[in-house]
Amino acid sequence: MKKILIIGGLIMILFSMAKAQNADALRVVNSALQALGGEENLKSFVSIYVKAKGIEHRSADTQGYKPDSETTTQHEEILAVFNDGKRLVYEYKTGRHDGTTRWRRVIFNETQRIVADFTTKSVFPAPVRFPSVDRNQDARRIPHTFLLEILANSATLQYLGAKDNQEIISVQVPSAKAPIRLYFDKNTNHLSKYEYTVDFPALGETTAEYFFENYQPHPKLKWFPTKQTIKLGGKIWRTMDVEQVLVDSNEAKTLLELPPELEGFLIPNGTVKEIAKGVYLVYGLSGFQPMFIEFKDFVMAIEAPAAHPSLEETPVESIGNVNAISEEFIAKIKQTIPNKPIKYVVPTHYHSDHAGGIRAFIPENSILLSTSGNKKFYENFAPNLKVETFTNKRIISDGERTVELIDVGANPHTAENIVVYLPQEKYLFQGDLFYFNGEATFPPKDRLTVMPFFAEWIKKNKLSPTRIYGFHSTLYGTMEHIEKILEMKK
Ligand SMILES: [Zn+2]
Repeated sequence: MKKILIIGGLIMILFSMAKAQNADALRVVNSALQALGGEENLKSFVSIYVKAKGIEHRSADTQGYKPDSETTTQHEEILAVFNDGKRLVYEYKTGRHDGTTRWRRVIFNETQRIVADFTTKSVFPAPVRFPSVDRNQDARRIPHTFLLEILANSATLQYLGAKDNQEIISVQVPSAKAPIRLYFDKNTNHLSKYEYTVDFPALGETTAEYFFENYQPHPKLKWFPTKQTIKLGGKIWRTMDVEQVLVDSNEAKTLLELPPELEGFLIPNGTVKEIAKGVYLVYGLSGFQPMFIEFKDFVMAIEAPAAHPSLEETPVESIGNVNAISEEFIAKIKQTIPNKPIKYVVPTHYHSDHAGGIRAFIPENSILLSTSGNKKFYENFAPNLKVETFTNKRIISDGERTVELIDVGANPHTAENIVVYLPQEKYLFQGDLFYFNGEATFPPKDRLTVMPFFAEWIKKNKLSPTRIYGFHSTLYGTMEHIEKILEMKK
């Protein structure tokens, strides 16, 4: 009994010590907020816009020319943080030591994260769920917004002590692996630095430090740090001088829009694009790019997409309606070509992402065209679907439009696989034989068995498509890419 009382008492003491620690840390945060105009004042702003310019010291982040010597490049950036916890824009333009430039704008709007690249002229939108980890990581670069976030996580605050005229506290922000330590100037109560440890690629356990220095008066934010430095493992990675700080500005609002010169490069999910007369691609249909082709009296759908469930999960994660993605595909076809039946559906091969949605085509009375080796498989899976098979090649033509369905035969991916060739346009559509997702990642290292096969097959069959589309790519490859693969093989 006595023991229990002693242990109980100890726990009580530890508990109240922790509470006192937390109260001390909270006092520091509140003083810091007060020094910047107070919580209420800061919460009343819609946006804070910061423009800065500086120098990046490459190699500190294992991205330079040599590990033991630094190269420096110019860096410019604009950060606009909106108080709604959602919207944020970060645009940066930074040199690389090889003379090239990264110039990107990352936009978080209410529903999407859009990465727009000014150099490669590409715009990639992706749906985003809030609270977004990526978004909040950027927002911490402004002390005012970071302090508000810390206040919202005050239950995790710890007082770590005082040293060199600085009070030190720690906070655990959601999703972060380790707590972040924050340093506050005892005289001004300003946040002067924060740091955390990270297992950094190629450096190992490293401390990342963010310094806020040279605070200057600001009409709305009271004070703003005009010099910011980021260090990695004690080495300076980036120094920046702040040139402009705006509150609730039009500049911040404008940044949320895509720059006009990049507007044409944005493809929102589920967009139907006519890539040649009567030939359509659906972009970003749950991550897939199926095709459909218009004939005089009917439509041909290429692929019957479905999501592949994750078998590691027990029970297998419910994917809901297996036909959902193909139903959406059919709806897109009907919106585009309202008055013609979908006479044919052609999965390139039997894999579930390409053919798992074929039952959605039963109400359309579509005929499934396939190679003979898959006949039994399809008849089992969709007994009410009419299946017609062919060997080697089947040509569908109505006099105006011709489509060649060609079985590439046994290949590293499947025993049979259909490519769709449009002889008039010289376009080719395929699934899982060729991957092109941009020059930077071509050829993808994990596809080096099937791609050489495909490149040789193209050569052997004397095809020279001007565009090679793929179910898993938003971009198309060309014969240049085929040559590159053949060259590599030598
Ligand atoms: Zn496949």
